Amino acid sequence: MAALQVDDEELVTCVSCGLCLPHCPTYRVTGDESASPRGRIAAMRAVQSGTAALDAEFTRYMDECVQCRACEAVCPSSVAFGHLMTGARATLAAETRYVPRWQRLGYRALTHHRLLVAGSRALAAAQRLHLVPAKVPLPRLPLRAAALCATGDDVWLFTGCVMDAWQRPVHAAVLRVFGAAGYGVALPDPHDAPCCGALHHHAGLVDPARALARRVMAAFPGDAPVLVDSAGCGAALKDYGHLLGTDDAARFSARVSDVHEWLAARRDRLPLADAPTYPSPIAVHDPCHLRHVQHAHDAVRVLLAPVAELRELDDDGLCCGAGGAYAALHPDLAADIRARKLAAIARTGAPIVVSANPGCALHLAAAGVDARHPFEVLDAVLTAAGRPAGLQPKGSRDD
Ligand code: SF4
Ligand code: SF4
Repeated sequence: MAALQVDDEELVTCVSCGLCLPHCPTYRVTGDESASPRGRIAAMRAVQSGTAALDAEFTRYMDECVQCRACEAVCPSSVAFGHLMTGARATLAAETRYVPRWQRLGYRALTHHRLLVAGSRALAAAQRLHLVPAKVPLPRLPLRAAALCATGDDVWLFTGCVMDAWQRPVHAAVLRVFGAAGYGVALPDPHDAPCCGALHHHAGLVDPARALARRVMAAFPGDAPVLVDSAGCGAALKDYGHLLGTDDAARFSARVSDVHEWLAARRDRLPLADAPTYPSPIAVHDPCHLRHVQHAHDAVRVLLAPVAELRELDDDGLCCGAGGAYAALHPDLAADIRARKLAAIARTGAPIVVSANPGCALHLAAAGVDARHPFEVLDAVLTAAGRPAGLQPKGSRDD
């Protein structure tokens, strides 16, 4: 019988108190103990002790977890649930057919930037020809994404895979806002740093995730900060030290910050003194990997509060159900989880929601929410305030 690739010390830390249960999105929508953190840990212990097998039931318990890590954030015993879940999935991926071939091919496609861009353009063309069924939860994809231009070398911006192909205007907004604050931004070659590997790691594909981590680290030479405008990618880059277990990886992870986190500490550099207030109230959605993993969600409020009326959700940071590839792999559960988030958003009365994670924004937008990245709001306010010239582009990136 296969032992799970988890740390036994971490596995025994859970005292089964159940305090995490109300914070678990899958427990909230199913009411099943097996869909709770406590139930999943009990299932892992049973496999680890040899009293249960890596069977279909165990696989379902693990697979239905959104990996939001809300349980980890509230656990009084500091159970490292994220490590336990990725270890359990790594075992399933290695020992069973948990990750089918078509999924492995999909994950591999994320690491080929040209293929991803070409595929996105083909999909965009199919959308224009009404060949994509309306029920497929995709945003309107760009036929051609505008080129990104580096503006200096004060900081790096990690551009990623799907976000770079589908939501490049967010990267452009980040470059403009940083330019207005007087910071030049360097861009990696997208072929050298095509993807952070988070989706691979979450699926249990540890070796591909490690290979991507090494590629990404090599694509950001020097010691300038590495900033990330996608909460899920930022959490992954900050975890390279643990994933690779090397001093180099730990040093790289120490250079990584979420863009909000980094700029909030330098907010006086933003020329917002005479900026108008954003024309409508804004609800703030905290992506799980910004709130529960990076603990950087307050930085969004620090940046936006001076220029917008912010409205808080009353759901205590419950997950929206996006979960990287989760919404695509578990559409029904993801929709049930999202329904709670939609109700919380509706209670704010705000017509716009900001989310610092592209996956959350796409998942909410698929349900009709006007979801934007916080930097798009900052960029709009700077434009309304009469944006300073900022920094000049220094050549465009090769696609
Ligand atoms: S994971 Fe933490 S909060 Fe949840 S049951 Fe175990 S000890 Fe309690
Ligand atoms: S990571 Fe999220 S979905 Fe998974 S057990 Fe913890 S709270 Fe529940």
